[in-house]
This record gives sequence, C-alpha cells and structure tokens, in this order.
Amino acid sequence: MKISLNLKIIAILLVIIFIIGSTIASIGEFEKGKTAIISSYKCDSGYSQLKSSYCASISKPNFNEKLDTNIIKPELIDKPGINILKPDLRAISYLITKSDLKNIISRNISKFWDPAFRSQAKPSTSHYQYPSATPQQGLTYDPLIATMISQIDESEIYQTTYDLQNFTTRAYPSSGNTQAATYLYNRLTSIPGLQTEYQGTKNNVIATLPGKNTSSDVIFIVGAHYDSTSSVLALAPGATDNGCGVAIVLELARIMSQYEFNNTIKFALWNGEETGHVGSEEFVTNAAANSLNIPLYFNYDSSTYDPNNRYVLDIMYNDESASFAELLTKYNSLYHINFNLTYNVHTCGSDHSCFWAYGYPAIMTHAQTHAPEAHSPNDTINLVSLNYAKKNGQLGMSILAELAEIQHTYQY
Ligand SMILES: [Zn+2]
Repeated sequence: MKISLNLKIIAILLVIIFIIGSTIASIGEFEKGKTAIISSYKCDSGYSQLKSSYCASISKPNFNEKLDTNIIKPELIDKPGINILKPDLRAISYLITKSDLKNIISRNISKFWDPAFRSQAKPSTSHYQYPSATPQQGLTYDPLIATMISQIDESEIYQTTYDLQNFTTRAYPSSGNTQAATYLYNRLTSIPGLQTEYQGTKNNVIATLPGKNTSSDVIFIVGAHYDSTSSVLALAPGATDNGCGVAIVLELARIMSQYEFNNTIKFALWNGEETGHVGSEEFVTNAAANSLNIPLYFNYDSSTYDPNNRYVLDIMYNDESASFAELLTKYNSLYHINFNLTYNVHTCGSDHSCFWAYGYPAIMTHAQTHAPEAHSPNDTINLVSLNYAKKNGQLGMSILAELAEIQHTYQY
C-alpha cells in the first residue's frame, strides 16, 4: 500500500517535471530564436481565469492572413502539449503549439522578451472620469467639423510617409530610428500652437494642443508608432506599418492646431511598438500613476492598405470604448466618409492595448488586411492607399473634434 502510494507520487512528480521541462524548453527556443513579443501583463489582469503561468503574446510575426487565421487557432485552447498562450485583445485567449512557434521563429523576427511585463498587474480602478460618448452626443452634422476634415491633404500624407521610409530603417533602437524621431520632432515643432516634447525614456515624440478650458483636465490622445521592423532590420521602410499612420497623425496635428478646442488634444508618436510597445507602455504606466484623465486614445496602425479599393475598415474596440465605436459608425455616415466598417476582426496588439490594459478607453482602426509586405524590406510607399488613409484620418478627426469640443466662436 505504502509502495503503491509512493509510486503514484513519483508518477505525478514525473508528469509535473515533464510539463515544466517542455514549457521551459519552448520558452528557451523562444528566446534563442528571433521571435517577437511577450506582453504578459494581460495574463496578470483579465486573463487570470486561465490560470496559466506562461502567457505570451506573439506580436506581429510577419503577420499575414495565413499566420493570423491558420497558425493561431482558438480551437487549440486547452489542447495537451500546448505550452505558449497568446492572449488576444479581447477576453478570448489563444494557444499555439511548439511547431507553430518554430514556424514563427523561422520567420526570423526580432527577438524580444521582457519578463518585467509579468509583474505589471492591471490597476483595479479606471483613470478617466469623462462620460463616454452617448448615442445622443454629436449626432448633429457640424459644418465646422466637415470643413476641418475636408482639409486633410493626401499629398501631405504621401510626403511624410515618403520621408519616413527613406530613413531606410526606423527599427528601435537604431540610428535611423533616432533620426526619424528628430525629423518628427522638427515637423511638430514647426506647427504653431503645439507644445512638442521628447517624452519618456524611449524617445516618444508628443505634441500637445492645450484646451481652451483651463479648468478641464480632460486629454484626448491620437497616436501612431513611428518605429519599424523587418526581416532585414537594416532595411525596414515600414510604409504601411506604420509610416502612413504617423503621417495621418501629423496631418491631424497640422489641421487641428488651426482650430480651438475646450479640451486638450495630444498627438503622440510612439517608439518601440514593434519591440513590445515599450514607448506607449511607459507613457500609459506613468499616466495611470498620475491618474491622467484620458477618455479616449485613438490609434493608427497598419490602417492604410487597400489595394483593391474595397474601403473596408476594421474598428477594434473593447467594452470601455464601445460607445466610441458606435459614434464612429454614425460619423462614418454623417460626414459621408463611407467606409465599409467591420468590428474586431483583427486582434493584433498595438499601442492601444496598453491603454486597454490600464482601463483607458481606446480605439484602433485597421485595414482589412496587413500588406503581405509588412515587416519586410518591401513595405514601401507604393503600397499605401492615400484616399483610404485620408478617409481614415477624417474619421478619427471627426470624433476627436466633437469629443474635445471644437469651438465655433473662433474666427479663421
Ligand atoms: Zn505597426
């Protein structure tokens, strides 16, 4: 009796050792290989119900449709032998197999592993007090907003994207990345009315358009990441991902700075998104620590690729930002922008996911698909759909103008 009990214990121990061993082996490969991203803070927050000690988010491993839909399969959840967990941005989590992991590793993406993320639990309180958009809000057509959004200039978007791709690489960290930051800082500094800064330790470039209502602490943020990545890191033009997203944000800054708003608007160009959104992560961590009141963060990433002129745009939102997604849907018609909208088709993590993790409402818009050339030396400006980019800028600008309370008394 005693012997068989001991055998049982030994058998259980062997199973445990096997499980731990295989998990460690897999993580070892993860580190050895050139794969991307762990953002396991999600596991510490909304994903705790999965009770996995190994949460991993595979971030942008040369994303294409095939990888998105075929390799990361929701039906793999809880299947034996799976040892890496990929939580997506909503409450669903995905698991990938070791062989899938090898497949991803073989794609030779830049390596990143940051166990520090593990310890970052989601704060229990939200950090915004501004009421979410209500169905009643902003439903009236505002000619001033219509005028403003009509000013978005495709040639400006083209020029900025072109300039950014010509840094050859904006991979973080690299000299091209630093040069791009200087270029963006200079561009924003040249716009009257903005207060531009290098923010944080990761070289985010942020311009602030102060609100006219000085008693309001409300800050709206629109942003995009300016770093790039590629299978050849020295050659990472990153036009669709995400030079054009940056170009949209710069265009919003150029135009919106010519108007007045009650609330403050920040134009944020994040660094290090491709290496685990380290720039926005640092910003949001500090914002939450200081209880900054941010009712909405609006993110542009991989949101300008539309080779067949389908004008399909995916709105990625969560429960906290659902009312904003609803407002965007209404504005899409109200201002005759006329995208064919889809919702939460994409699950890729970008800078908005950091805001979500800290309870801030955030929206991301995403093109129907990633350009197949994304994260390669061929992600060049010819892939950018300028009219699509313009419309996407108009959509974001319209909601920001309404929520930040554009002032109608100002004479132009
Ligand atoms: Zn991106």
